Amino acid sequence: MSANETYDVIVAGSGAAGALAALRAVELGLSVLIIEKAHKYGGTSATSGGVMWIPNNQLTPNDDSREKTLTYIDSLLRGDVQRDRLEAFLDQAPEMAKFLVSLGVPLVQAAWPDYFQDAPEARADRSVLCDTFDGRQLSDKQFVAMR
Ligand SMILES: Cc1cc2nc3c(=O)[nH]c(=O)nc-3n(C[C@H](O)[C@H](O)[C@H](O)COP(=O)(O)OP(=O)(O)OC[C@H]3O[C@@H](n4cnc5c(N)ncnc54)[C@H](O)[C@@H]3O)c2cc1C
Repeated sequence: MSANETYDVIVAGSGAAGALAALRAVELGLSVLIIEKAHKYGGTSATSGGVMWIPNNQLTPNDDSREKTLTYIDSLLRGDVQRDRLEAFLDQAPEMAKFLVSLGVPLVQAAWPDYFQDAPEARADRSVLCDTFDGRQLSDKQFVAMR
């Protein structure tokens, strides 16, 4: 990288949030640079359990919905919450899963129940994992997105 290089988007941090933002920007045709301060890619995300709670994910046909998820969450909330952020999560998390699947990321439903099984509309199909895959199958394009 030289001082003269320019990018449409510069992402600070290569964890799940940064990597996904970068991937989306690349898919939208933007040039992207990820800057990582650590000596390895991946941040905390790379050492996490990797279980994503994505309600209404529809990875397999099911009758979950935004409304049912809201009932579940609302029954557990205590105190103030930023409603717009909560609703943005409910709307965008399933879209994010669809986006990754459209790129060939092998997301699978995890046999992982919601933590509060006695709460209304608790389910066991809202957690998602990325299946194991052979990293050698990654194309140059996918690799460039991570550089
Ligand atoms: C053991 C463990 C297990 C977990 N399991 C789960 C789980 O199963 N499900 C779940 O939902 N959550 C889990 N979590 C929590 C989850 O891992 C984090 O909430 C998530 O990874 C945060 O992602 P992120 O992209 O925001 O941050 P990170 O993955 O931490 O990425 C941030 C990156 O930014 C870099 N960075 C920071 N500042 C700068 C800078 N100024 N310039 C350049 N780079 C910078 C950091 O070095 C890092 O690489 C777990 C956490 C731990 C510790």
